[in-house]
Amino acid sequence: MKKIVIIGAGFAGLSLACRLSRYRVDYSLILIDKRKKSCFLPLLPDVISGYLPPEHLEYDIAAISKLQEIDYLNEEVVRIDTKENVIFTANSSVQYDFLVIASGSETNFFDNQQMEENAFKLDCVQDAISIVNAVKSNNYGCVIIVGAGYTGIELATSLRKLLTKNKLDIRLLIVERERQILSGLEDWMRSYVLNNLVVMNIEVLTSCVIKEFKTKDVLLSDNNLISNCMVIQTAGKKTPDFLDNIDFNKDNLGRIKVDRYLRASENCFVIGDCANFSYQEKALRMAVQFSLSEADIAARNIINTIYGIKLYPYKPKDLGFIVPMANWNSCGKVLSFNTQGKLASLLHYAMCVYRTIGLRNKFNLIRSLVYNG
Ligand SMILES: Cc1cc2nc3c(=O)[nH]c(=O)nc-3n(C[C@H](O)[C@H](O)[C@H](O)COP(=O)(O)OP(=O)(O)OC[C@H]3O[C@@H](n4cnc5c(N)ncnc54)[C@H](O)[C@@H]3O)c2cc1C
Repeated sequence: MKKIVIIGAGFAGLSLACRLSRYRVDYSLILIDKRKKSCFLPLLPDVISGYLPPEHLEYDIAAISKLQEIDYLNEEVVRIDTKENVIFTANSSVQYDFLVIASGSETNFFDNQQMEENAFKLDCVQDAISIVNAVKSNNYGCVIIVGAGYTGIELATSLRKLLTKNKLDIRLLIVERERQILSGLEDWMRSYVLNNLVVMNIEVLTSCVIKEFKTKDVLLSDNNLISNCMVIQTAGKKTPDFLDNIDFNKDNLGRIKVDRYLRASENCFVIGDCANFSYQEKALRMAVQFSLSEADIAARNIINTIYGIKLYPYKPKDLGFIVPMANWNSCGKVLSFNTQGKLASLLHYAMCVYRTIGLRNKFNLIRSLVYNG
């Protein structure tokens, strides 16, 4: 019997595992994740604003695996030997016939030790809780968010909600290395977001980086010294360290380059944030919609490989994106139409409900959104 091993039970890995389990072909399935719970990352900022309780963002991987008849191994993968087809965790090793790498991405501190030791990040529910607790301790005069991309902007607006709710007078500042925020997006969106940040009393410094960060003191590249700071890093993503030495072609974020069937080699598929799929001469951006559609194609292609049938090429369809902001003043482009304000926020949450696993979780999420909205 062929053995399929999937590393990562996030959007891509969990969706692929459920699809493969539904086909019920004669193979065994092993899902490995270092966490006990899978996290719905796009709603993390809503935990910070207090809009959603943390438990509505996490799904028990063991329970889902049991329901789908998948073997689940709660361990951290530390190395893969692609020649011998073996995966190593701290405590064991697992042999495979087919491997799917779906281990996502994490915050990149770009080897800056000061930042790694002192800054906060937003990669999981515990990170969101740590940020909330630190802000509520009222030990800081300023929160600096590094990076004015989607996550940095959404996070800043969620923090403003948190500060207002708790009557805390803390300065909120976003610093961005580029000359403008949200690089790559259309001008109207940038102006829309900037206006909203002004309304929410969030400062933005562009062409600026943190030069030095010692305990709570931050020296900016414009030589401005800000004391008593809390810093949250959102600029930059990278793949997990265990992929550093893998023998595949990668890009500068560590994403593994895949062919049009989502393969890095004959028996290794890579999907989700840790895959670099070239689309219109650019790597596809990291987003839930691509993780899910890649899972679908990879599942079919694994089965087809087992049966020696022709493989499906992956043809991504970009449904669009939203820049969510916590005061229900979001903006974006959906199915090529510009959208803004409450409608954009509603579309964002509607997609989150649609992508939530399980009817009970969907119901809980809708109830929280309506109750807290
Ligand atoms: C704050 C935030 C907001 C976001 N908002 C949006 C949004 O609004 N819309 C959108 O489309 N996208 C959004 N994203 C991006 C989106 O969440 C990702 O694109 C998506 O989660 C990628 O899915 P994935 O399955 O590749 O990885 P993940 O969902 O990250 O799952 C990876 C899994 O691999 C596991 N893993 C990692 N390393 C190991 C290891 N060594 N051993 C075992 N297991 C391991 C992890 O524990 C995790 O469960 C957001 C991301 C963040 C952080």
